Amino acid sequence: MLTIKCAKCKTKLYKYHKIGKGKLLKSHKTRIKKIYNLKKEDRQYKCSCGNAVGTDEGEFIKMSNQAFTYTGTKES
Ligand SMILES: [Zn+2]
Repeated sequence: MLTIKCAKCKTKLYKYHKIGKGKLLKSHKTRIKKIYNLKKEDRQYKCSCGNAVGTDEGEFIKMSNQAFTYTGTKES
């Protein structure tokens, strides 16, 4: 499980079940397990500080490179 954090203010955003060892380019909504801090404005998902971390693409969130960091392990 990964904990996704805002790259700007380091606030925890959500927990994500990542499958595979590749880069985190998308977050599938069904694999988001717990939301700490994430708000949606139009099609953008933002941290409470206003940093946009991704764009809504329907079934997944397309992640903005360098807008987030994460800790934890990826499932293979
Ligand atoms: Zn933030």
